[in-house]
Amino acid sequence: MSYRTILLFGAPGAGKGTQGKILGSIPNFFHCACGDVFRSLKADSEVGRVFIDYSSRGELVPDAPTVKVWHHFIEASTKTGRFHPDQDTLVLDGIPRNRHQAELLKDTLDVVAIFNLRCSQFDAVVERLQRRALKENRLDDANLEVIRNRLQVYERESKSVLDCYDPCLIHEINADQSPVKVLVDILARIMKI
Ligand code: ADP
Repeated sequence: MSYRTILLFGAPGAGKGTQGKILGSIPNFFHCACGDVFRSLKADSEVGRVFIDYSSRGELVPDAPTVKVWHHFIEASTKTGRFHPDQDTLVLDGIPRNRHQAELLKDTLDVVAIFNLRCSQFDAVVERLQRRALKENRLDDANLEVIRNRLQVYERESKSVLDCYDPCLIHEINADQSPVKVLVDILARIMKI
């Protein structure tokens, strides 16, 4: 089974989750944020503990448990009727997050578009992350050191995911704009797919 997929891509704090949630509320789009999948795990389960260990340091969870947990979530969403793979477009945010994950998911994802949310204002990103940390009680955004590490991990490991896909699938989006303008730019592209 290969899922028709749109990838939301960009650094932590670029607004992938905000856009993903809106897109996921449109009929025939199903949003899946990998970070949310991890946060929904029981903290005392084996993978739940691995997640807390890595995310609290701003590091990526190892690829094998990540892809396994993600598959499990998609299968459960299909079984419970929230995701209809034959009709829905999957809107993925936060996965694949390195080249190895892209390779592992190569046969599972039929990527039809990638939106690269680009933020040039570092201070704005840090502020968004810190605000979210308070609102959502997120350990990974709680201190500046961890945020810095998350942004470095993005530069070092995640950015190159884009090299795994056909450049004509990649759409650059100015994520310095207001959320509504970012949404308009994304929707304008989606209408042409
Ligand atoms: P953000 O979008 O702000 O970067 P996420 O909610 O996507 O944050 O991710 C939070 C944490 O969950 C990450 O720092 C990482 O530890 C873990 N995580 C999420 N997705 C993945 C993934 N695909 N691979 C490995 N770790 C992941």
